[in-house]
Amino acid sequence: MEKKELVLYSREAIAERVGELAKEIDAAYAGEEILIIGLLRGCFVFCSDLVREMKSKMEIDFMTTSSYENNESSSGEVKVFGDFRSEVKGRHVLIVDDIIDTGHTLQTVAEAIEKMEPASVKTAVMLDKPSRRQVDFSADFTGFPIDDVFIVGYGLNYGPYYRNKPYIYTYED
Ligand code: 5GP
Ligand code: MG
Repeated sequence: MEKKELVLYSREAIAERVGELAKEIDAAYAGEEILIIGLLRGCFVFCSDLVREMKSKMEIDFMTTSSYENNESSSGEVKVFGDFRSEVKGRHVLIVDDIIDTGHTLQTVAEAIEKMEPASVKTAVMLDKPSRRQVDFSADFTGFPIDDVFIVGYGLNYGPYYRNKPYIYTYED
């Protein structure tokens, strides 16, 4: 049977919050140039909405990270791959992801970037599940904190599908 969708954040609510986040981030960088690093694939919707609301001068690049392998629980082991091209040394880096859950992904990527001697490293996520954290890591900019429920839409997948849904939802039991 088809599972029933339960919408947590509508397209409109997301747009409003992303606009606020963009202003918050621009203000934090106060005119400094930013190197945005989006974590594929989940970031692609949030990242594209966010950067189009921001006014800071920026370069945009991507890394591919994987921890779920189509399961609903994180393995804690994060793989980072893809063709990352940017010079990081001396730059202000903002890592952008869809959601911070256990924290392994952002922590692993932030540590890898730190080794490249950036001027600074910050992180921005649309969603945060603080109750699920396994490592001591929090995002610098967060759209919405949420409870421990499996989220779909707005870049987030269920199996290989539904990343294109323009709202954030879960499934009713
Ligand atoms: P973490 O490494 O913080 O546990 O998880 C980060 C990644 O796991 C996210 O970038 C996302 O791809 C995936 N993830 C975490 N929670 C959810 C969720 O509720 N739904 C989906 N579809 N993916 C999630
Ligand atoms: Mg991800």
